[in-house]
Amino acid sequence: MKRFASRDSSYLPSSYLNVKPSLPSLPPPPLLPSGEVASPSCMECLFPRGMIGHETTLERLVEIPSEVRTAYSLFRPTPLVRAVGLERELDTPARIYYKYEGAGPAGSHKSNTALAQAFLAREAGITRICTETGAGQWGSALSQACLQFGSSLEVFMVRASYLQKPLRRVFMEMHGASVHASPSSLTSAGQSFLEKDASHPGSLGIAISEAVEQVLGDPSCCYSLGSVLDSVCLHQSVIGQEALLQMKEMGDFPDEVVACVGGGSNFAGIAFPFVASGEGVSYVAVEPSSCPTLTQGELRYDYGDSSGLTPRYMMYTLGCDFVPPPIHAGGLRYHGMSPLVSHLVSLGMVRAVAVFQEDVFSAAKLFLRCEGILPAPESAHAVSYVIDSALRAKEAGTPSVILFCLSGHGLMDMAAFS
Ligand SMILES: *Cc1c(COP(=O)(O)O)cnc(C)c1O
Repeated sequence: MKRFASRDSSYLPSSYLNVKPSLPSLPPPPLLPSGEVASPSCMECLFPRGMIGHETTLERLVEIPSEVRTAYSLFRPTPLVRAVGLERELDTPARIYYKYEGAGPAGSHKSNTALAQAFLAREAGITRICTETGAGQWGSALSQACLQFGSSLEVFMVRASYLQKPLRRVFMEMHGASVHASPSSLTSAGQSFLEKDASHPGSLGIAISEAVEQVLGDPSCCYSLGSVLDSVCLHQSVIGQEALLQMKEMGDFPDEVVACVGGGSNFAGIAFPFVASGEGVSYVAVEPSSCPTLTQGELRYDYGDSSGLTPRYMMYTLGCDFVPPPIHAGGLRYHGMSPLVSHLVSLGMVRAVAVFQEDVFSAAKLFLRCEGILPAPESAHAVSYVIDSALRAKEAGTPSVILFCLSGHGLMDMAAFS
């Protein structure tokens, strides 16, 4: 039995694949605080021009710049592996495959967009990037990408994670980034939250406000976001494009494609190329029951941050003032959700499920023992659902084929498991 698909470089795509032309309709556009549609030109105070192009394009294929493709080639194509050990342990007729994005240099899928964004900033002559990070994976990926493409980086890190995950801060600093616990006293957004609570645990929404505030005051600086945006989903399409080819090589095709969702980008990355292929697949987005954006949130216009500095997006949201409980899967604690993923959920093309933290941690431990990889706490949400689905296949006696995105490894998150 074949366990691994080839990692031949011909599987690394030359273009990003845009799902928009394949959809029955598009999500409503982002709005400015005034209620007007946010035009591409008014986004230029935040993002480099190339990024806005990626955000708004309706072309099906968008060429990957050759320097970015070269940077990808150090770790892409990532492995596609059949989880034979897990299948055996569960004694299931289901065939389970995972696409292992932990093989990237920062241990998660986030380098796929970090490298593209750092490149596009350099092309626009920008020398300084500001961003936020929750658990630290995004800041880690972007700090490497900024070093590679020559810009400086300032990171606002959610205070709860800054305290729980000091190793992530060290990793970012080793790449030359400056890291601040958010809320910080460096911005007026941060100050206003600190006034209410001097030891405020922070949230992604607050950290985004701080990063955006810094960018609005400095034209040589751009903002960078690691998830949610259409452009980020576009960059992540390398995952699913490779997986499609690798599944074919394995002589199999998924009935179900699964990924965890925080802002929705690794889900979009693995699922959208299958959506665009037009094959009949069911798609499952897995979120934590403690931050149930898709299963309990409302679909409406809301800000991307907590102080109302960003445009408003049509998305599932728990409200931009939501401060999530400090569970360990920091990367899944965002109040909102990618407008594209939200749209597919609202059209009934994607099913959302919420899973409990206890099940998530036992799933991670089982996966480690059976497959030899410790999933990131975020990715373990997908693993938890996959185990349930494989057990249902066993009860029903149906040999379903499940493909999931193992979005990162958990070696930097050991404290969460101890
Ligand atoms: C950031 C992160 C996530 C959540 O972000 P999405 O945009 O929903 O993919 C999931 N897994 C890992 C390993 C992450 O670092």
